Amino acid sequence: MDSVELYRQLPGLMPPWTVERVELDMARQHVEVYVGHAAGQRFACSECGLELGVYDHLASRDWRHLDSCQFLTYLHARPPRVSCPQHGVRQVNLPWAQAGSRFTSMFEALAIDVLQAANVKRAAAILRITWDEAWHLMERAVLRGRAAKDEVIPQQIGIDEKAIAKGHRYMTLVCDLQEASVQYIGEERKQTSPEAYFDAFEREQLESIEAVSLDMWQPYISACREKVPAADTKMVFDRFHIMSHVVEAVDRVRKLEHKALIRRGDNTLSKSKYLWLTNPSNLTDQARQRFDEIKHAEPETSRAWALKEALRELWNYTSAAWATKFWKRWYFWAIHSRLPPMIAAARLIARHLPNVLTYFTHRIRNAVAEGLNSRIATVQKRACGYRNRDHFKIAVYFHCGGLDLYTAHTTHTKAG
Ligand SMILES: [Zn+2]
Repeated sequence: MDSVELYRQLPGLMPPWTVERVELDMARQHVEVYVGHAAGQRFACSECGLELGVYDHLASRDWRHLDSCQFLTYLHARPPRVSCPQHGVRQVNLPWAQAGSRFTSMFEALAIDVLQAANVKRAAAILRITWDEAWHLMERAVLRGRAAKDEVIPQQIGIDEKAIAKGHRYMTLVCDLQEASVQYIGEERKQTSPEAYFDAFEREQLESIEAVSLDMWQPYISACREKVPAADTKMVFDRFHIMSHVVEAVDRVRKLEHKALIRRGDNTLSKSKYLWLTNPSNLTDQARQRFDEIKHAEPETSRAWALKEALRELWNYTSAAWATKFWKRWYFWAIHSRLPPMIAAARLIARHLPNVLTYFTHRIRNAVAEGLNSRIATVQKRACGYRNRDHFKIAVYFHCGGLDLYTAHTTHTKAG
């Protein structure tokens, strides 16, 4: 088989397009594939599909294609234009690449797979393209995927804030909890942040939402009440977020007590922060031994800690009625603890109790999308390398958006 015949097998290269010649540039390690069509060929208007004779050709362009045995391979062609009575002079669609892309669809599909497995810098090195080209590929894939996405509203929604990079800037992520994907990323963490997501849907669609998991954060609560019909029966305050408020309260107790002890020359609580905040089952033997010694001294912090650990039980009940009984006992204990941060945390939860207990109807939590959270965390870590918030958004959509990222004319079966 000669090389022209070989490259004729090029996916996406269908009649009337044929390979006219192939050049091997040994010095640059390039394969140049020249593609053309027979004279007199008619092409469809890219807008309406009307078949027309060629009006003219644009200057020759090239597209990076999959390498041929380590050789960078480029496709060259002069895109024809037709003159449509309705749409004017238009470039015709080319079967091997999307309009505006400098890569063939086959190359884009490979690049997407590589970008999903590696960070942008590494992927660019593997693919032998620049960082900007790799980034642009990713961005195009996301825009394409989002444009092709059906606007179906998830039945179980999670609303979550994420602090990005330095500077305490927040983004609001709206997730599909069943599919474990990020549906929408809004600026800030204001009432309008999730509202902008809900506004894209009709009332009927919003009615089909079964449950929303969220933090005890007033702007998000207001957004749900404003936009989601019967929101009060659907909102569930995420247990992870509730516990994180209590964990913070324990830490505040520790800090206050530590300061008071240090003034008396007692350093019992020095370097103990981690011990009070970690789930006991995650402590090393050595850490647990130290922890037992500190607790033996019965600092106030140990009472705060016991309250925190006890509250975890709440979500193990099978019914709201039993959970309520437990809650009342716990609340009484907390309120009488004489530990102001714990009292404040207990009151905060008490104020939000109805939508803490909706958990026993819906049994959802943001952490259900556990895999999703860790994927977002990975993107966040890499996000240090991203230059701005738009980059963070694109990366989250790319890795966590549950999108079809491939071009329409790539029949792509994902490996694994
Ligand atoms: Zn037309």
